[in-house]
Amino acid sequence: MFRNFKTVPQIVFGRGSFNQLDAILEPKREDSFMVFLVDHCFANHPFKSRVPVKKNDLMIFVDVTNEPSTKYVDELTDIARKHIPGKIPSGVIGIGGGASMDLAKAVSLMLTNSGKAHEYQGWDLIKNSAIYHVGIPTLSGTGAEVSRTTVLIGPEKKLGLNSDYTVFDQVVLDPELIKDVPTDQWFYTGMDCYIHCVESLEGTFLNAFSKAYGEKSIDLCREVYLTDDPEKDDKLMMASWFGGMSIAYSQVGVAHAMSYGLSFVLKVHHGIGNCIVFDYLDEFYPDGVKEFREMMKKHNISLPRGITSKLTDEQMETMITVSIGMAPLWENACGKDWKSIITREKLRDLYKRM
Ligand code: NAD
Ligand code: ZN
Repeated sequence: MFRNFKTVPQIVFGRGSFNQLDAILEPKREDSFMVFLVDHCFANHPFKSRVPVKKNDLMIFVDVTNEPSTKYVDELTDIARKHIPGKIPSGVIGIGGGASMDLAKAVSLMLTNSGKAHEYQGWDLIKNSAIYHVGIPTLSGTGAEVSRTTVLIGPEKKLGLNSDYTVFDQVVLDPELIKDVPTDQWFYTGMDCYIHCVESLEGTFLNAFSKAYGEKSIDLCREVYLTDDPEKDDKLMMASWFGGMSIAYSQVGVAHAMSYGLSFVLKVHHGIGNCIVFDYLDEFYPDGVKEFREMMKKHNISLPRGITSKLTDEQMETMITVSIGMAPLWENACGKDWKSIITREKLRDLYKRM
């Protein structure tokens, strides 16, 4: 069976395009209100006055200190439900990095699906289409703006609400919104994209569709991170989009599988977690790791070391279990026979070096 996946139907790209948001939302307002979930970094920032909030709309500055949890999604959904009794919102707009966009996707789904968010962690468990939802990145690299998932930490697992309904109805890509991201964060989130490309292009699931997007995306990453390109913000936004499209039809690989383990046990964030792992993956991705180190050097990035040194044996075993459980990622990276290459001992040895 070939995958028949949904993509974002409407997209605006361009510097200053954020100013069009009001006009984009206008026909969708009907007789209810909009919910804006805005990254908390803008709570005291002049940007917040540009968000086209109207009377009765709800604007929440979402706390993304920790990666989004199912519990937080339930709380936000509850606030949106109670905002005007008897009315459900006309739309949910997520403005921020991968975390804020994921929260917006998840809340838009939970407003129309009963129960709790953790009940839908998995593949195609969502029953009803979401409320109209819009994604607006202010940080680029994750591909969350284009993907059919929203990654959430639940009581038992870190897993997305993967469904066709999860995909945004509209995305606004305005490169001006990412120009002030601090260098470290810009690097970690951008490297998420670079690593998506390496894992997709080096993977066994690769086809011409994924290759076309992956090759373009990795070229853009090189221009962004290895040259002093005046259009770097525009290019990174497109790299993120194309990187997301590439893995939609292939899969990620070793760095993501191992970074999920780190994140589950040590609460390490996705972007930096991928970077920490990737730096030890010469045997899997020699060229990619070499180039990644050049990028680190150019931007003076130093990664945390020794983060697994204080883990108990039990924590280490949990980390290995979470990682080894990502079967499709391992199969993409190492082929059908991956279990003969990726053993618990192998992962323990790699993790201990980090
Ligand atoms: P993030 O959303 O966690 O944000 C990182 C930090 O950057 C936060 O402190 C935030 O406040 C700040 N920030 C955001 N925009 C800024 C700006 N313009 N200026 C200054 N600071 C800004 O980071 P991320 O790397 O974009 O996203 C990671 C999250 O995305 C994780 O929760 C991960 O699980 C998820 N993710 C989702 C997908 C998907 O397909 N849905 C894919 C990859 C990652
Ligand atoms: Zn990623």
